[in-house]
Amino acid sequence: MSTASINGCCLSSIRSAAQSSARKATLRPSVFARVNSSASPPPPPSLIQNKPVFAAPAPIITPSWREDMGKDSYEEAIEGLKKLLSEKGDLKAVAAAKVEQITAELQTPAPDGKFDPVERIKTGFIKYKKEKYDTNPTLHGELAKGQSPKFMVFACSDSRVCPSHVLDFQPGDAFMVRNVANLVPPYDQTRYSGVGAAIEYAVLHLKVEYIVVIGHSACGGIKGLLSFPDTGPHTTDFIEDWVKIALPAKAKVKAEFGDAPFPELCGHCEKEAVNVSIGNLLTYPFVRDGLVKKTLALKGGYYNFVKGTFELWGLEFNLSPSLSVKDVATILHWKL
Ligand SMILES: [Zn+2]
Repeated sequence: MSTASINGCCLSSIRSAAQSSARKATLRPSVFARVNSSASPPPPPSLIQNKPVFAAPAPIITPSWREDMGKDSYEEAIEGLKKLLSEKGDLKAVAAAKVEQITAELQTPAPDGKFDPVERIKTGFIKYKKEKYDTNPTLHGELAKGQSPKFMVFACSDSRVCPSHVLDFQPGDAFMVRNVANLVPPYDQTRYSGVGAAIEYAVLHLKVEYIVVIGHSACGGIKGLLSFPDTGPHTTDFIEDWVKIALPAKAKVKAEFGDAPFPELCGHCEKEAVNVSIGNLLTYPFVRDGLVKKTLALKGGYYNFVKGTFELWGLEFNLSPSLSVKDVATILHWKL
């Protein structure tokens, strides 16, 4: 795509503001070098033993997932465990005690009104298995061979905004990264290797065709970004350093809407932080290569769960008229 064709597109209402955002985005690495230099890394945790420190009771890990799963299945599992453990003579006493413990745990109903996490996970998986997994053997047969998702999605860790629910993604549809405030950090092999690995794998190996960064309303991470002081010592171990990835968004929103009420500032910043993340995606060479070759496209999204709306913007200009479409090419001053 040429610069001329990008500049030939309209949708100019956000252009000037967006241009300043793009300029800030290009300066971002030096900003974060300063932020990083003030913090000394904590010592790595020491291993206390070289084996798992927790193992759930066998019936919980490998239950027999049948429609009639319930007390009978547990009893069968316990019988199996009893037989297995009893074969080891020296473990007989241990086995008996363990079986008793497991039996007691499984047979003790949760007190009225008390949340039972094991029961919740069990019933959740049974429902999924029955309604989704067992009803689509073709899909799951294909997925057993591998994955070929069209989308890579960045979404917030917020429990209210799961893209699989909001956008009805099915298994195999989207390779996903979720973190506080759905941020894409700039390319940094040391500080952000986890996110970098995910992007590299998605683009180079899975060959996703779209990377979508989705912000959302009432984001606690963005609220924190707007609340924390820009300078000075941190009061959190990780959160401030992480959300400051979106400092350019905060600066832009403060400059443009500084007098607005705080919730309104948050709303603007939630969207602008998506643009910062899209700008940061351009710092990854394999992302840029994909864009140049047109095998990859970037999109920004915003889910407002208070109003029940979803906005999408990107480089393609003929999206559904029901969606609010903006011109990220203009926002980013993207020249190819
Ligand atoms: Zn959030």
